[in-house]
Amino acid sequence: MAGPAASGFARSRACPKIRNVHHAKATVGQVNLELLEETLSGEPAYRRRQVWEWAARGATSYGEMTNVPAPLRATLEERVPFSSLAVEAEQLARDGTLKVLFRTHDGHPVEAVLMRYRDGRRTVCLSSQSGCPLTCTFCATGQMTFGRNLTASEILDQALHFRRIEPIDHAVFMGMGEPMMNLDSVLAAASRLPDAGVTPRRTTVSTVGWLPGLTRFIDEVEQPIRLALSLHAPADALRSRLMPVNDRYPLEDVIAECARYVALRGQRVYVEYVMLAGVNDSPDQAHELAKLLDAKLFKVNLIPYNPTGMYDGSSRDAIAKFKFVLDRARLPATVRLTRGRDIAAACGQLATTAKADEA
Ligand code: SF4
Repeated sequence: MAGPAASGFARSRACPKIRNVHHAKATVGQVNLELLEETLSGEPAYRRRQVWEWAARGATSYGEMTNVPAPLRATLEERVPFSSLAVEAEQLARDGTLKVLFRTHDGHPVEAVLMRYRDGRRTVCLSSQSGCPLTCTFCATGQMTFGRNLTASEILDQALHFRRIEPIDHAVFMGMGEPMMNLDSVLAAASRLPDAGVTPRRTTVSTVGWLPGLTRFIDEVEQPIRLALSLHAPADALRSRLMPVNDRYPLEDVIAECARYVALRGQRVYVEYVMLAGVNDSPDQAHELAKLLDAKLFKVNLIPYNPTGMYDGSSRDAIAKFKFVLDRARLPATVRLTRGRDIAAACGQLATTAKADEA
């Protein structure tokens, strides 16, 4: 799923407080892993490890890899682009959130976000697809043209871009795209994240309930990666209206699959619930939600909505009343802090028009 952000760079021009910190045609990322493997195929195995360790610790070029022989560094420089992504633009929000618009080698836009919290946490929000085919009506990503699944290198490069700026310690797959539709690449990227500072326990994969991928995720993944369910409605009729994927994979089946995750992993599933004024935010709907979700299995994040055109966000008062009902029902619930709202880097807002000139 995507959570974050809409019409990023175009939309954000309207806000005078936004500081554009960078605007470049091409830049570093991490290495294209396949090409790197090929180029190092005649080298001892430890060379691969050395190069990767430098990259994972935030090196910005092969030149910094001082334990790699200079001629090999020169060959790498020549043959293996240091990134599979080019940076087109970066935007820094008042709260320190940094959003980056990347471009793949074949021209697809990708956005990723670094969220900086006061307690020192540094969370990267990563995209798994360019655009998204699932067209959830509240989500800006769903309104843009679907490009394609991203490769593992392209996913990892988003995280490594931020790692070069500062240490990172959490990752959420809540950017553009539905991660369970591109599970192999997501898991391949996630398996490398610990070297960059993000352990599986601090990695969260979010889904709208794409069951083929979710079932594989539950059955095959051995690391303690967290699961988030993008729910947004307490009943099928409304959920299908907001999220067409619900017609294919209805609530009952998705909830049952999440319960299986909890039974196997012993970790609660986070439920993402974006608060849409007059749509899904009434006290009655809160009661319905509390009935739907077993408090032993789920923890709810209520997400203040960042308008993307079609809906208004719920008022603070409406969110507080909604939460009050969940609290009374003893269903664990928090209201999520929104990050990067002024640069359209918050939940439901990742969808670029990819016009870097507007950044
Ligand atoms: S359209 Fe739906 S599935 Fe796709 S990114 Fe948006 S919320 Fe996630």
